[in-house]
Amino acid sequence: MVDNFEGAVLPWRCLCCGAPGSAGLDLCAACHAELPWNANACGRCALPLSAGASTCGECQRDPPPFAAAFAPLRYAFPIDRLIVGLKFGGHLEHGRLLGTLVTARSEALRAAIPPGLPLLPIPLHAARLAERGFNQAAELARIVAPALGAKPAPELAWRRKPTPPQARLDAASRRANLAGAFAVSAHPKGCAATWVPRRLIILDDVVTTGATVRELSRTLRDAGCEEVFVVAVARAGRVPPVAAGERRG
Ligand SMILES: [Zn+2]
Ligand SMILES: [Zn+2]
Repeated sequence: MVDNFEGAVLPWRCLCCGAPGSAGLDLCAACHAELPWNANACGRCALPLSAGASTCGECQRDPPPFAAAFAPLRYAFPIDRLIVGLKFGGHLEHGRLLGTLVTARSEALRAAIPPGLPLLPIPLHAARLAERGFNQAAELARIVAPALGAKPAPELAWRRKPTPPQARLDAASRRANLAGAFAVSAHPKGCAATWVPRRLIILDDVVTTGATVRELSRTLRDAGCEEVFVVAVARAGRVPPVAAGERRG
């Protein structure tokens, strides 16, 4: 959701280069033209692939517990810097821009994801939330959920244990780190059993190896959820061969 009132008071400004923004975005036309769209991605996990490929090797060997993941952008400049600024710099205006860029692909997302599903932003551990003051996925959800016709449902699950930064860990260590990291919430009517909807969407800022969304999806599936869709702003992964005319920032 773009806040027109705010746009009318504060002019749109490019968060990458400082030039005037364009088309109701905090992004100028030149920077917009250079965005690293995830043009050809794995149909299951959104890993950037070279043109013509449809499913990555990992999804073929070990299919993920979610039905499909969508990430309109690659985790590359300037999206990486915008996400870091949102998470670690508290720049909520980055979240507004990143969420709006996801909604620019909402037609494709709506074609793939049924409408009206609950949307669960990946929960932060309470200690991390207290330190940061906000959950970046919940900030993105405020913009992305309405564009998908989804309903934010942050109460569906929570993070049982804080996980240390994963950036330097290999895939196996990430998985071990994350085992049991999430739990579904108690039944809303107070029954002893936990409860999850039959289908839902989980939302994250960036899918790196996929270990976090796999773990949360597994927890939700174990609790009875039949179909999990994953939406993220960006997907990390080896960049496919650079196409003619495409430059990296
Ligand atoms: Zn710019
Ligand atoms: Zn894949």
